Amino acid sequence: MDALIPSPHLIAFEKLTISGLEMMIEAKTTRTVVHCPECQQPTQKVHSSYLRRPRDLPTAGLSVRLLLHTRKFFCENTGCSRTIFCERLPECVEKYAHGTARLNQHQTWLGLALGGELGSRLADKLGYPVSAATLIQRVRNLTSSAEKTTSEIKVLGVDDFALRRGCEYGTVLVDLEKHEVVDLLPGREAAPLAEWLRQHPSVDTISRDRATAYQEGATTGAPQAEQIADRWHVLKNLTSAFEDLLHRQASDIKAHWQTVYADELLPTVLPSKPEIERVVPPTPSEYVRSKRDQIKRQQWHAARKESTGTQGGRTEHCPGRQVSGRQLRRDSAALRDQSMSQFRAMCIPGARTMGLS
Ligand SMILES: [Zn+2]
Repeated sequence: MDALIPSPHLIAFEKLTISGLEMMIEAKTTRTVVHCPECQQPTQKVHSSYLRRPRDLPTAGLSVRLLLHTRKFFCENTGCSRTIFCERLPECVEKYAHGTARLNQHQTWLGLALGGELGSRLADKLGYPVSAATLIQRVRNLTSSAEKTTSEIKVLGVDDFALRRGCEYGTVLVDLEKHEVVDLLPGREAAPLAEWLRQHPSVDTISRDRATAYQEGATTGAPQAEQIADRWHVLKNLTSAFEDLLHRQASDIKAHWQTVYADELLPTVLPSKPEIERVVPPTPSEYVRSKRDQIKRQQWHAARKESTGTQGGRTEHCPGRQVSGRQLRRDSAALRDQSMSQFRAMCIPGARTMGLS
């Protein structure tokens, strides 16, 4: 359960309660000796205890709230201006804070990455809703802790960030040796950057993007500093230069490959595909016509055989056994109707039952 609580070396887990979509984690502070924030005198004399209810990072889709039992102590230094002070837990919950330190850290990252409005929308989806103004304040709070170290900055990173994407931007200054944000400037013009650099003459290297305003600001405010491209732009420029080189040398590269790998680059003769004969079914009229002609031929041969007495390739004369033309036409019509019925029955399932035959 210690994994659920922030700073388990400072507080101890006691109880977990889930109510609806909210998880309540009850914990208490465990230090026996604390230091007065004013005179740093250690003390063990407890004055009283009270309950803090800071929000924490969501877990398993549930919003989390800490019920943290903290204490007040007496300062035993008679010369100190404080007689009673609240226990400090800076790694867990800052004084007067409504959220844990790790929740505030997440909100700061959101503010830096997305600005106020977009960060607020994403935070709502992530389960810890926060206003856009609070996210902006989280980013501004970064500068307060870094103000006292700005005089020591030697390598400065300069880049822009969005307060409202597409509408309002600011400039973020980062100590690249300590990887800390040291200041935020309004807008992304040259003048504020130049003024800031004049107040911090220790800067000897400025990493920036290719914006003209930052170039002017850096040149004006810190002419002694060397200006370099940041890592992202170095990689981008290197990629562009390499692509240009490949485009310019494309014909030479292709010729080289054709020379060295001539055998492998020979065109492969693919086997020709077998021609597939397309079978077109006869239309009803074609079927009837062919069937009728076939029947006519059979009838004609039968009549001729009967009238001439041909058997086994031998012809015999049989007078009085001739078929008239009228009889032939009648038989042909009857057979035509019969063949049409057969064709319909073959092509149209159920035609017979529907009365089509
Ligand atoms: Zn004190």
